[in-house]
Amino acid sequence: MDRLSSHSATKDVVQKHGFKFSKSLGQNFLIDDNVIDSILQGARLSKGDQIIEVGPGIGTLTREMGKVADKVVAIEIDRKLIPILRETLDDLDNVEVINKDILKVDVQELVEEKLKGGPVKLIANLPYYITTPIVMKFLEEDIPVTDIVVMVQKEVADRMNAVPGTKDYGTLSIAVQYYCDTEIVAKAPRHMFIPQPNVDSTVIGLHVRPEIKYPVDSEEIFFKTVKAGFSQRRKTLLNSLSTLGFLSKEEIREVLLEANIDEKRRGETLSIQEFATLSNKVNAKVP
Ligand code: SAM
Repeated sequence: MDRLSSHSATKDVVQKHGFKFSKSLGQNFLIDDNVIDSILQGARLSKGDQIIEVGPGIGTLTREMGKVADKVVAIEIDRKLIPILRETLDDLDNVEVINKDILKVDVQELVEEKLKGGPVKLIANLPYYITTPIVMKFLEEDIPVTDIVVMVQKEVADRMNAVPGTKDYGTLSIAVQYYCDTEIVAKAPRHMFIPQPNVDSTVIGLHVRPEIKYPVDSEEIFFKTVKAGFSQRRKTLLNSLSTLGFLSKEEIREVLLEANIDEKRRGETLSIQEFATLSNKVNAKVP
């Protein structure tokens, strides 16, 4: 079977099976060859790769990954897509489809049992309604993932990729960049999908660093400090850090001084390194 990524090939498959798209499951199928190639390049897909895909749809991206990678495990929540996938992926015996909700999957166990213990890459055109929970699941749950290359809503990609001092820079930028180097891989305007969504998309590459770039004494306090720093975007750090709840005004002044950060600055101007240094000073004052 040839590629599924043309408008007519996708329509044929959908019509043949009488498939009805579900808006609530974020079903917008990609119909652009160039974007598919960019995704594979952005993921540096190669022969020995172990891949997890979330939401294969009718298998458009899945097929192209299956032709190259060692193994692809695709998790699809919609059981109506399973017979379609059985047909479209029929000739690829290194591809396995699992009919489950990704948020309920024990990914570590899956990697152990089906993907040689990793390392794995997560490559997907994600359903928009749960993009962030899926990405954070892979980053926070100690899964041996080296690269996450995903299609997300453009605005989400902009936030993940943002630098300090810009309007898009916030807790999501730091949550992602704490672990990864980020890269915008491709743009995918809405006309590249059927049905057409109301938003444009971007493929973002999150390349997990093998080494720790920002050493912190406590990740919990680091992320709490970041959250507090962005809790009131228009206020100075002297004010916003009071939402931590356990530091007096005087102590906030002290930690900012120790971290060499002007108390009049706003959280959105701090680099991740500055947040790391600040959180270590905060951590030393945890009651
Ligand atoms: N990969 C296909 C493509 O690029 O054409 C389809 C992508 S579509 C944006 C998102 C897919 O994720 C749909 O197939 C949808 O059914 C599936 N999906 C939605 N929520 C899911 C969940 N919680 N777990 C697994 N798959 C899910």
